[in-house]
Amino acid sequence: MSGVAGYEHLYGPVPSRRLGRSLGIDMVPMKTCCFDCIYCQLGPTTCHTRERRDYVDVDEVLRDLEAWLEADGTADYLTFAGSGDPTLNIDLGDAMARARELSGIPVCLLTNGALLWRKGVRDAAMQADLIVPSLDAATPETFERINRPVADITLDRYIDGLTETVLAFHGEVWLEVMLVAGINDTDEELAALGDAVRSIRPDEVQINTVVRPAPGLDAQRVDNGTLVRARVILGPDATVISSAWERGVPEGAEHSEAEVLSLVSYRPCTLEDVSHGLGMHPNEVIKYLAHLVSQGKLHREDRDGKVFFVRGD
Ligand code: SF4
Repeated sequence: MSGVAGYEHLYGPVPSRRLGRSLGIDMVPMKTCCFDCIYCQLGPTTCHTRERRDYVDVDEVLRDLEAWLEADGTADYLTFAGSGDPTLNIDLGDAMARARELSGIPVCLLTNGALLWRKGVRDAAMQADLIVPSLDAATPETFERINRPVADITLDRYIDGLTETVLAFHGEVWLEVMLVAGINDTDEELAALGDAVRSIRPDEVQINTVVRPAPGLDAQRVDNGTLVRARVILGPDATVISSAWERGVPEGAEHSEAEVLSLVSYRPCTLEDVSHGLGMHPNEVIKYLAHLVSQGKLHREDRDGKVFFVRGD
């Protein structure tokens, strides 16, 4: 999967309200994950695994980063995330430490957090400056339903791993909770999540909902009233991230969005078509597609089981 033109393992920098200009670094091939979340923006998980190995060569990643820095690349954060879960790459800790040393830019680890109960994964995570794991459910049935984990990842292990990580980590841990209408938004589910949050004790809890289209899937956003209710139930450290309320395009993104619109105007495209066509990472493309759909400039069409984006006017 191509990222920033000429750099296979990088994407962005993507403007982020939480992290500023964030350069994405991809440590696994599309789409390698121990979850198969029903809301995943990247579509179904094709490599559903908890096996850690060198999916992407760390020296190659650092060569990309070095070249990008030499070409005057600047960012507020290097964010290890991308085409699945970065903790599956066995060299993640080494990659994060070397990336920070090379660039002097702080490193954020964006992960589902489901493997943090394994000591090797926790040790790798300690190399970050900021960890943003997720937790969407705190009852076993809803965990299975929303995240569809590989075997051996139990909810107890998951929550224990998150708790251990917060205790051991020198920096901040921001726990992200993704709410999906009709699945994890009842008072019972939110109360169970509140109990889990009190045992994990992250520095912040960031409540989000499904604001971007998940190709081919039917996960729906919750309404503003539910976001408020969740914030109350999840406790004083919980906030609703601003993009959950509104659908603005981050500053500086207009140019990229115009490119996406112009490509889709030429012919209907899938997410992957746009990603390949413009050399942008799917995580970046999906933001522009979502905003264009919300503005009525594009609409989605299901054709032979694939989701196409089509000019809306
Ligand atoms: S953990 Fe992230 S990458 Fe993996 S399936 Fe869920 S949303 Fe997609």
